[in-house]
Amino acid sequence: MKSRIRIVLLVVLVALLASPVLASGLPEGFVYITDVIPTAKLDIRYYTGYNFVGTRIEGYHAPTAILTKEAAEALKQAAEILDEQGYYIKVFDAYRPLRAVEHFVLWAQDLDDQKMKADFYPEVDKERLFELGYVALRSGHSRGSVVDLTLIYKDTLDEVDMGSPFDFFGEISHHGTDLITPEQEANRNILRDAMVAAGFEPYPEEWWHYRLADEPYTDRYFDFPVDSPDFQSWRGVLDEAMEKSVERARQTMNENIGGPFGAAIFDMEGNIIVVASNSVLRDHDPTAHAEVNAIREAGRVLGTHDLSGYILYATGYPCPMCLAATIWSNISHVIYGARPEDAEAIGFRDDFIYRFIEGGRVDSSILLIEEYGRDACVELFQEYAEMQKQIY
Ligand SMILES: [Zn+2]
Repeated sequence: MKSRIRIVLLVVLVALLASPVLASGLPEGFVYITDVIPTAKLDIRYYTGYNFVGTRIEGYHAPTAILTKEAAEALKQAAEILDEQGYYIKVFDAYRPLRAVEHFVLWAQDLDDQKMKADFYPEVDKERLFELGYVALRSGHSRGSVVDLTLIYKDTLDEVDMGSPFDFFGEISHHGTDLITPEQEANRNILRDAMVAAGFEPYPEEWWHYRLADEPYTDRYFDFPVDSPDFQSWRGVLDEAMEKSVERARQTMNENIGGPFGAAIFDMEGNIIVVASNSVLRDHDPTAHAEVNAIREAGRVLGTHDLSGYILYATGYPCPMCLAATIWSNISHVIYGARPEDAEAIGFRDDFIYRFIEGGRVDSSILLIEEYGRDACVELFQEYAEMQKQIY
């Protein structure tokens, strides 16, 4: 099985090398930053919930960064200058779909939602965000040649101290502010000098924001989503996996077999291997989630516990158990439909499990974990190690 997967991978790789533009699936003229600058690190804040809105932004489907070819080539020049000085670049945002900007605008109009105020705009009234220019109806990012970035040290990968965090709304983020130390100002200037030398223009109010002066699209705004390269090439099978997962989930939900959760596993050639759904109620099995059922069935169908190279689609963001099961199976790419908050809205709650894990697994009101019998169990482990069996 594994060698077959390797052959498939090799074929895919050869195909990618032969036709990079076709394989990426991006609109013509756009590229992934990490394809052009392999040393660039990404921290795509609008994909994570850690941004001024406090949730994933519309249109950010994968933690990746896209630019026009021209902007990416110029950024590469800047990265080379910075590399010689001991820095890599870390990108927070690049091309931004129009729908993301619309999300910002809707958020800005909702004055009740101030959950990220302390971190991103402690001294700015939310009602003044438009007037002060922190949120706008249109963003240059949607033209594809604007990038938000900082510097990291090559040796530690730690962020260089710029005096204020990315997306902090306030005077301290302006170029030339006297609210930062001379060293912080010097750090901002290292980034600025390299970016300007490569053809970018700084933005006076945000030390992290740079626009390619000679941008190829001056009045064209794009709305294609920020997807991963893999995702682009799976678009056909994804629709099928999604539809089948929803259909199966609806069917078993109506038969009272389980909740509204379905999952499918497919391979890189676009073949759906299994479709499964939640069967907790029928099986009297609290672990019979759609993803776990799909993984178990795929293992049986394929005759292996190793699902390397397969992709999992799930109708809902997987719970911690299913995420762990997915990692155990060696599946390394998950695509989901509904978000955790969508499941929460209908009464399903995974949040407390995540909080238990993130809190160090010590909240005994959720689960009390105690140690007993270590010697005998370690002896058993030792016997296994001496048998030199496979580790999976
Ligand atoms: Zn689950």
